[in-house]
Amino acid sequence: MTVIDEHFQDVTGALSGHPRILALANQKGGVGKTTTAINLGTALAAIGERVLIVDLDPQGNASTGLGIDRRHRNCSTYDVLIGEAPMRDAVVVTAVPRLHIAASTMDLSGLELELGATRDRAFRLRNALAELNTNIAPDTDYTYVLIDCPPSLNLLTVNAMAAADAILVPLQCEFFALEGLSQLLQTVEQVRSTLNPNLSIHGIVLTMFDARNNLSNQVVADVRQFMGSKVYETMIPRNVRISEAPSYGKPVLVYDLKCAGSEAYLKLATEVIQRERELRSGH
Ligand code: ADP
Ligand code: MG
Repeated sequence: MTVIDEHFQDVTGALSGHPRILALANQKGGVGKTTTAINLGTALAAIGERVLIVDLDPQGNASTGLGIDRRHRNCSTYDVLIGEAPMRDAVVVTAVPRLHIAASTMDLSGLELELGATRDRAFRLRNALAELNTNIAPDTDYTYVLIDCPPSLNLLTVNAMAAADAILVPLQCEFFALEGLSQLLQTVEQVRSTLNPNLSIHGIVLTMFDARNNLSNQVVADVRQFMGSKVYETMIPRNVRISEAPSYGKPVLVYDLKCAGSEAYLKLATEVIQRERELRSGH
């Protein structure tokens, strides 16, 4: 490859106008999906990326954790997926520069029933995000979209997988970490063979790691052996500041920039960007 080729690739990558869409998925609850959506999103924005978080969990924890009051959710991801509003109408800015969010409400829990057997039911999110791209305005020109999935392999998660370029799997360092992973990977495989042939696994991020805990270390060893290079080097430590931050409506990077949790999410963001570069240059 010549220097010009290399340069050209870089430029097309940067100007393609298509954001990288990553779905944070794991059908287990409490493994760190939402925490990672909020804090990886914040870290990417801090590094200069333009980030949209799409809250696809009816619980709306990502929205609350970013300080979006329920009164400011009169247009939500539910309205978008049901087809009553374009994505840009659901987007609100957060206190973090370059970080926006499409918030969710409890209405989302009824979506599956309401959509019934409509033919495009799995593509609602993909279509809504594609429309966002065609309305290129400086403030919706995202470089990353992070989708926070609910703790289930339901239609919402399938919408996320059908819309995503890749899946990012948060895995908690506990005894049952690997349980359910094969089911998740099977679902990804199914989506790849039917709805979205380009879907890949971006990586697995180990969360709530406790170096003093033997079990935690054993789980890390097992997951690294089982999943190899798919596992990010960066591990997110169990850190009380991470769990405190949402009750202040703040990402941990804003709540306490110097804590171990913030450092870990910044490191994860650089690793994610590095992996993107490698993917783009075909390594
Ligand atoms: P999920 O979205 O997968 O259900 P959450 O991100 O909501 O999981 O995390 C579950 C709980 O664990 C939350 O109360 C969160 O604050 C806490 N938590 C997540 N990651 C960490 C961490 N690294 N250290 C300490 N607490 C964490
Ligand atoms: Mg969650």
